[in-house]
Amino acid sequence: NRQIILASRPSGEPKPENFRLVETAIPELNDGQVLLQTLFLSLDPYMRGRMSASKSYAQPVEIGGVMEGGAVSRVVLSRRPGFEVGDIVQGRTGWQSHAVSDGTATSAPLQRVDPTIAPISTALGVLGMPGMTAYTGLLNIGQPKAGETLVVAAASGPVGSLVAQIGRLKGCRVVGIAGGADKVRYLREELGVDVALDHKAPDFAAQLAAACPKGIDIYFENVGGHVWEAVFPLLNDFARVPVCGLIAHYNDEGALPGPDRLPMTMRAVLSRRLTLRGFIVSDFAAQAADFRRDVAAWLHAGKIKYKEDIVHGLEKAPEAFIGLLKGQNFGKLVVKVAD
Ligand code: NDP
Repeated sequence: NRQIILASRPSGEPKPENFRLVETAIPELNDGQVLLQTLFLSLDPYMRGRMSASKSYAQPVEIGGVMEGGAVSRVVLSRRPGFEVGDIVQGRTGWQSHAVSDGTATSAPLQRVDPTIAPISTALGVLGMPGMTAYTGLLNIGQPKAGETLVVAAASGPVGSLVAQIGRLKGCRVVGIAGGADKVRYLREELGVDVALDHKAPDFAAQLAAACPKGIDIYFENVGGHVWEAVFPLLNDFARVPVCGLIAHYNDEGALPGPDRLPMTMRAVLSRRLTLRGFIVSDFAAQAADFRRDVAAWLHAGKIKYKEDIVHGLEKAPEAFIGLLKGQNFGKLVVKVAD
């Protein structure tokens, strides 16, 4: 079994030496267990949090522990009724080539993946956790209405791209933000956003203000940092902000220098009656069936598109993950571990 373990905790940006590839024996199967061969491993921004010891909504990975992650796998041995050799399943089996699972004990149980609906890797993207994050965060917290202005950053990624497209389906005017000309072109030409902006442009804040002449009704927060700074003054009275992710800050160490802007921010929250609500996708687990039904239907009807960025080989996972935190991925980042 090839595994990537957490060798040390990063300080700031993760480095290759924070990870180590190790070879271990595959354990014997007990009754009730299956042996899984990883086909696709998902790489997601939340994994940066699992590398740190600081308190979060989930436990960190232990030093020497296998890096946590969702994967799509094939059952290669089964001593568990209901799972046949050859079945395709999805579970939180981690950064490794093989995993033994009893189908229930891991933090998320094994779920069957139906290869006839869409390519199986989409169970990690548009039809999986990131897609569910976009769908539930936007609909429950963003509450989009026709004619409203919706702004979303990291808009070429799996969460942001689905937020943008569902926003369009709900009749919003969508402003998508991404880093670099290729991603911006993708937003405009493939996803059909109303305005696509590059957050790396020196006059980005002015461009955003010009793109939102009626202010912003919904800001789907994926990044924080200078994008949030540009968005905040433009939020309308009663604007909704699903706070989904703050990737610009995941490598921060402690408080940033500079003036304390919290009182000013809170005053604006009060006077403009803003709703900022953080959420974790699992908060809306009860809506999983609605999500799968709606997104699968939109996919089949050609109403939404998705983009994957596939890296080949488990050993490439650390480098690809480090790049994800810097915007080097273009689409849902997935590692193809085996055929
Ligand atoms: P993406 O594939 O979109 O990758 C992250 C992207 O963030 C990068 O490609 C980059 O895009 C952008 N980015 C990175 N640094 C910065 C920065 N400093 N300023 C602006 N943009 C930056 O990721 P996902 O779609 O998987 O995740 C998007 C967000 O949603 C993340 O914050 C993630 O943590 C969060 N999330 C939250 C969940 C929840 O339950 N609350 C569940 C899943 C995801 P670009 O090149 O365009 O700048």
